[in-house]
Amino acid sequence: MAASTRIPPIAQPFVSDRAKKTLDLVEQFVENDCIPADAVFQAQLGEGEKRWTTTPAVLEDLKAKAKKLGLWNMFLPKNHFKQGAGYSNLEYGLMAELLGKSKIASEATNNAAPDTGNMEVFAKYGSEAQKQQWLAPLLDGQIRSAFLMTEPDIASSDATNIELDIRREGNEYVLNGSKWWSSGAGDPRCKIYLVMGKTDAKNPDPYKQQSVILVPAGTPGMKVHRMLTVYGYDDAPHGHGHITFKNVRVPVSNMVLGEGRGFEIIQGRLGPGRIHHAMRTIGAAEKAVEWMIVRINDERKKPFGQPLSSHGVILEWIAKSRIEIDAARLIVLNAAIKIDQGDAKSALKEIAQAKVLAPQSALTVIDRAVQSYGAAGVCQDTPLAYLWAGIRTLRIADGPDEVHLQQLGRRENRTRKDAVTKKLTWQRDEADRLLNASGFKPKSQL
Ligand SMILES: Cc1cc2nc3c(=O)[nH]c(=O)nc-3n(C[C@H](O)[C@H](O)[C@H](O)COP(=O)(O)OP(=O)(O)OC[C@H]3O[C@@H](n4cnc5c(N)ncnc54)[C@H](O)[C@@H]3O)c2cc1C
Repeated sequence: MAASTRIPPIAQPFVSDRAKKTLDLVEQFVENDCIPADAVFQAQLGEGEKRWTTTPAVLEDLKAKAKKLGLWNMFLPKNHFKQGAGYSNLEYGLMAELLGKSKIASEATNNAAPDTGNMEVFAKYGSEAQKQQWLAPLLDGQIRSAFLMTEPDIASSDATNIELDIRREGNEYVLNGSKWWSSGAGDPRCKIYLVMGKTDAKNPDPYKQQSVILVPAGTPGMKVHRMLTVYGYDDAPHGHGHITFKNVRVPVSNMVLGEGRGFEIIQGRLGPGRIHHAMRTIGAAEKAVEWMIVRINDERKKPFGQPLSSHGVILEWIAKSRIEIDAARLIVLNAAIKIDQGDAKSALKEIAQAKVLAPQSALTVIDRAVQSYGAAGVCQDTPLAYLWAGIRTLRIADGPDEVHLQQLGRRENRTRKDAVTKKLTWQRDEADRLLNASGFKPKSQL
């Protein structure tokens, strides 16, 4: 069954024929080209010093093929940007799910984070010169980029805490401070860093203190002094850098949008990008189920005389996984539709739901798949251990679950409390009136 025939009925009216064709092409490209090439990518990664100075050649081959097939920059939604491939968020959501089944498919089609969010920043907020210098090569897949917000010495889930100092001196800005979890900073093709810092720490409005400024790779004073691991994986060549800035000087023209506009930029950047991860996460969960189905039907492995598929509890795992993935997919696609019908700001509730539910569901599913493989599930012989580690980080990256849940809970409470209190009070009074009229005593003690 081709991907276009598996689109959930609720989403079908929003998917064009052109997108359906592309969706099937994406599926073929991912299943036939990218997933087999994942192993080649791994084998071509450099060792030792070369780990962070080379990139696997197989990626460039895949990029060339993807471009030829027209599978390029599908993430830029058509109603917000003219530079993309002309699909809606929903249509891209269906494609991104498939991309999520391969380690390298997103990059092979130029739909990989953090470049996607950074391209959105340039397209939305960049000056013409900034667009020409950085957006054009990013859109073409010639260079990569990083977004540097998180800092080691503060709680970065609250971005008002950001401390990196950006001070104007004549025609330059001078940066001092440190950043970590700078994803992509290990890649030799990473040529531009979008750095968030404070230009006006004394501004009484805590949301006007920050700015985002461009720092080209190799600028003196900036040093990637170590790479961080994710549950032991280094994610080379992309990687996650710990970076220090010591009197780093850039021209004033490198400021994005203007001083004090940093919050506006990160809020604009993180809307659709947040659900890109959620979309790919659904694909990762589907992949885990595929691996689980193969394992439970493996004729060589029959604990207590029967294949795992004959043990009731295992079929229950498959069934529960099906339910959880399908439910999470609907939440994610619903968020995409809501963004398409307005913008990311009008879909904050739906984005938060997708951001929280998709990784949690996928982690449960992947964990079952790991369990079905026994010890093999935690080693390098299946993609499951790496998938689990990658998806686990999504409950922290782009804002921890707790922050999204707090905002979601606050919003639900604020928008509903008056109307719900009024309705329930009326219903209680009406019940009392009806009880009285029928000769009964009112029961409610509230
Ligand atoms: C793999 C990976 C890639 C990343 N890539 C990037 C990147 O490219 N660029 C970048 O700038 N950052 C990146 N990050 C960092 C990420 O954005 C931050 O880790 C995240 O915002 C949380 O900030 P923190 O680590 O400082 O945690 P803290 O802010 O210190 O929070 C710690 C914990 O406190 C709890 N908490 C926080 N707020 C609340 C609340 N309101 N209520 C209840 N509990 C709460 C949560 O459990 C949270 O996990 C990445 C992180 C990972 C793991």
